[in-house]
Amino acid sequence: MTGDSIDLFGDKACPEAPGRVVPVLVPMPADKAYSYRVPDGMAIQPGSIVQVPLGPRQVAGVVWDTTDGPAVDPKKLKSITQVFDCPPLSQDMRAFLDWVAAYTLSPPGLVARMALRVPAAFDPEPMVEGLRLTDRRPDRMTPARTRVVETAADGLFWTRSGLAHAAGVSTSVVEGLRSQGVFETAFMPPPPVVAAPDADYAVTELEEIQREAADTLIASAAQKTFSVSLIDGVTGSGKTEVYFEAIAETLRQGRQVLILLPEIALTAAFLDRFEKRFGAKPAEWHSDLAPRTREKVWRQVTEGGVRVVAGARSALFLPFEDLGLIIVDEEHDPAYKQEDRVFYNARDMAVVRARLGDFPVVLVSATPSVESRVNGEVGRYRPIHLRTRFGAAAMPDLGLIDMRRHPPERGGFLSPVLLSAIGKAVEKGEQALLFLNRRGYAPLTLCRVCGHRFQCPNCSSWLVEHRFRNQIQCHHCGYAERTPEACPECGTFDHLVACGPGVERIAEEVDRHFPQARTIVLSSDLMGVKRLRLELEAIAKGEADIVVGTQLVAKGHNFPMMTCVGIVDADIGLANGDPRAAERTFQLLSQVTGRAGRTGLKSRGLLQTYQPQHPVMQAIVSGDAEAFYEREIGERERAVLPPFGRLASVIVSADTRTDAETHARGLRQAAPQVSGITVLGPAEAALAVVRGRHRFRLLVHGRRNSDMQAFMRAMIAAGPKVRGSVSVQLDIDPQSFL
Ligand code: ADP
Ligand code: ZN
Repeated sequence: MTGDSIDLFGDKACPEAPGRVVPVLVPMPADKAYSYRVPDGMAIQPGSIVQVPLGPRQVAGVVWDTTDGPAVDPKKLKSITQVFDCPPLSQDMRAFLDWVAAYTLSPPGLVARMALRVPAAFDPEPMVEGLRLTDRRPDRMTPARTRVVETAADGLFWTRSGLAHAAGVSTSVVEGLRSQGVFETAFMPPPPVVAAPDADYAVTELEEIQREAADTLIASAAQKTFSVSLIDGVTGSGKTEVYFEAIAETLRQGRQVLILLPEIALTAAFLDRFEKRFGAKPAEWHSDLAPRTREKVWRQVTEGGVRVVAGARSALFLPFEDLGLIIVDEEHDPAYKQEDRVFYNARDMAVVRARLGDFPVVLVSATPSVESRVNGEVGRYRPIHLRTRFGAAAMPDLGLIDMRRHPPERGGFLSPVLLSAIGKAVEKGEQALLFLNRRGYAPLTLCRVCGHRFQCPNCSSWLVEHRFRNQIQCHHCGYAERTPEACPECGTFDHLVACGPGVERIAEEVDRHFPQARTIVLSSDLMGVKRLRLELEAIAKGEADIVVGTQLVAKGHNFPMMTCVGIVDADIGLANGDPRAAERTFQLLSQVTGRAGRTGLKSRGLLQTYQPQHPVMQAIVSGDAEAFYEREIGERERAVLPPFGRLASVIVSADTRTDAETHARGLRQAAPQVSGITVLGPAEAALAVVRGRHRFRLLVHGRRNSDMQAFMRAMIAAGPKVRGSVSVQLDIDPQSFL
């Protein structure tokens, strides 16, 4: 243990004190750390992970930094029960957790909880029993025994089964040798979850523009100080190859690297690619990991054994031993925003973490968020442009299909123009992708006779038909029932009609037109992550002709034979009252059409739209992203929307509509008068009821330099007490307005 605990907790000042008192942050929605006594002889320091009594329970917590609070009588306090044999959370990490809590207006305990998700990993991993060759040799040598002895002659520790396997013998041969003293047993550290990456394993020869970009990143990595770079480059331009160079440089410095990816569970291809470059896979971190793996990864990240983590947004809260670089790939992706308990944007918090830790961060996107673009333009971020695709790969030839002029046949959703393009691709033995961001068969079911619409009993939303499962489901609360045969309202049989398309319905239409083609539907509700990974691999190998998918097909996959991409409903999402609607549509559509033509083959992207003149559509087909950004940035600036202004949401929910509304009105009345900040609402949320909870929203709008947190804190403090079923959620920098 280091000696700094003595100074920090004032032991020197009063050596005769009956016991030291330290704050411990427990992973609960507590506003601050609680005070605990340190038993005599217990060595702790700020950041130590400890066990403390809390009510009737024992919980894990972190020794926090002392602040000048009211003096407490140590005799009245409970004592820390034990210190875990685990590296303490670093000063940077503690500062980061405090910062996130203050910024998002979340209880610090809940933020700390995100760093302490894996209590089983607080104890060291058990040592593994191993064997080592001694000087003794068996009385009688056999060829099998000779092989074992030769294999183990390197003097290293071997597990019994590992040695047997390596020598190609059964474990009984190894055991026989051990019993004769040829091997001694010893305990060795547990094996690493992933092998160490090698910065120089298979260096890629970069093109000139890529080389320049990489050199800029390497230089910033070499400086080992805070900087933000924004790689803005078209899909297939080699952004990944370029940031791999920054990773290599950081590995050479002996520091750790975190790569954030929006959909890690689906990015098997990324892991393979990393392995090809660095000779070993990065450790993965996401919600789908097996518990044992999770524990190992957490532990080995804190001890420094794991050098590179590729993870979902929650990986940002891993307590790295010596983090030296963060990459945020697809930085514009909405999946980086968590809207549950602690509302945070991992992209923004990654920048904060880098600033507090004083190391570089690299944001990467083919379609950066407007916020990051502006930060690049004003010089807060260093923009790095890659405007052309690597090698022979050309951008797909993009076109709009005006649905008013080329309508689908009755009951269908695919225009003859799109169908003919799909047909041509399939004939040539190439692949087609149809994209529609709607799961299920149809978004609405109604009775043709009485007009009854099937609505969720818990939410204000329609039930979505999932024909493959023969269910109608709510996409907000998971409610599901068998698709009824008769209308519950008028009792008529066989008169229910599906309204509008989902991916399943599009697949049905495709099957009708191309009965010989192999069609796959990719949708997160149809299969688990493992299955999805297999399907994606199969598609990449050409084992499907036509793929119909939701947005998960948009993310980072490389399908070499994909030469035709059709967007079934490009207008979806353009008119939903979200200030980022145009930006989101632009990003998603660019990303999907970017799936096409990633090899030398000529490829097409077609967007079905009823608004061909819309600036988003025009920006995509003209390939003039710059014009789109310029226009979008201008509009944001005029409306003082982010990043030129600031937003925060308050979502009040309760079991009854009246309770929710009354509380929301009370908050509105309690809002302080601050120049530059206005409160809009309360208004009933667009999603008025979710899981039986009635919802009202307030939107707080401020200028760029407004102190939104102070305003919100003041409003909550002066507002009505949260009582009964009421709950209040605060969302700083909201992404969703439903
Ligand atoms: P992005 O991340 O911009 O979409 P990638 O880094 O994935 O682009 O590159 C697209 C494809 O081109 C990948 O298959 C990649 O391996 C290949 N590629 C890019 N640059 C090079 C290079 N300099 N040498 C070899 N292959 C490259
Ligand atoms: Zn529901």
